[in-house]
Amino acid sequence: MAKKSVFPAILKAKCPRCHKGQLFESKPYNLRKFTRMHEQCSHCDVQFAREPRFFEGAMYISYVISVALFLTNAFVIYTFWGRQPVWVFMTSIIVAVILLYPLTFRYSRILYLYAFGNLKYDESVVTDQKN
Ligand SMILES: [Zn+2]
Repeated sequence: MAKKSVFPAILKAKCPRCHKGQLFESKPYNLRKFTRMHEQCSHCDVQFAREPRFFEGAMYISYVISVALFLTNAFVIYTFWGRQPVWVFMTSIIVAVILLYPLTFRYSRILYLYAFGNLKYDESVVTDQKN
């Protein structure tokens, strides 16, 4: 059987071990709850916070995503509208950061968990739970 790809699981915010359980309790743009994560997987019971204060490291991923957003924003403005005053760049970046904050927050945690959580996809966990 082919190895299951992690990219759909990352995009759908699924558990890195079973690719079945959800990491977050609600949709990204539910502004009251978008930061809330499940403590453990509903399917395979693995703990998502690998150690105390584990997700503080996701700040570094968030920083990288934000810098990529700034550069993309500046590139798009410069490409389509040429040289603009600084306030145009600043306003568009601030609006983009605010609008995309729930996604930046979530994907920084998801990517951090997949990269440093030491959790590999385990097909036996998936099949054990089905039987
Ligand atoms: Zn799981």
